[in-house]
Amino acid sequence: MKNVIFVGPPGSGKGTQCENLKTNYGFIQISTGELLREETQSDSQDASEIKKIMASGSFVSDELINEILAKRLTFLQNKPISGVIFDGYPRNLSQAQNLEKLLLNLGQKIDHVIEISIEREVVIKRLKGRYICSNCKANYSKYYKKPKIEDVCDYCKGSNFTFREDDNENVINSRLDTYDKLTRPLIDYYTEKKILKQVDGSSYMDEVSKQICLILNI
Ligand code: AMP
Repeated sequence: MKNVIFVGPPGSGKGTQCENLKTNYGFIQISTGELLREETQSDSQDASEIKKIMASGSFVSDELINEILAKRLTFLQNKPISGVIFDGYPRNLSQAQNLEKLLLNLGQKIDHVIEISIEREVVIKRLKGRYICSNCKANYSKYYKKPKIEDVCDYCKGSNFTFREDDNENVINSRLDTYDKLTRPLIDYYTEKKILKQVDGSSYMDEVSKQICLILNI
């Protein structure tokens, strides 16, 4: 089983590339953003606090996200899967160290870190045009990636779509600033460990998928 981390700013295409690995190669995606959005739908004590933090574009506490991730990894243990893609985790150095420890305890390691690099202006345009299948959470874009059949999700055939609350210009800018300050240092961290490979996220979606498959040797 392979453990793969996607690092890239919001809107770099991490979610879209996960769809390809899930649909065609039996990977499981762990999107911490998605797990948090699910948490906001519950009536847990944390729900409204999490919602506020996410709406502002900053990060929830390491303590909370580490706990959510650990639960997810335990749940996936011994399931017949080809690999896990970490989408949106780790997002800072302390989370990176936490993930290493968690995987070590499960007798696993990080096999690949793939940086999806892309210019800020491109992701701002992408995020402003992003919409999501309400059912399976697949990502689409008004500008770059519409469903093959109008208003029908390519993956689950659902026909309800929604926007993310944090995809508005102010919050987008603050999410990108947070990425530069806290997440970008991971690129040096994993480069030093010699497990980081880079793909050009501004290429066509299929081309990016091809590059990723080459790196993963699948
Ligand atoms: P995403 O769906 O990955 O863009 O994440 C949406 C939001 O969830 C982020 O802007 C953060 O507020 C929060 N979030 C997701 N993953 C993490 C994480 N690993 N650490 C802290 N906050 C996170």
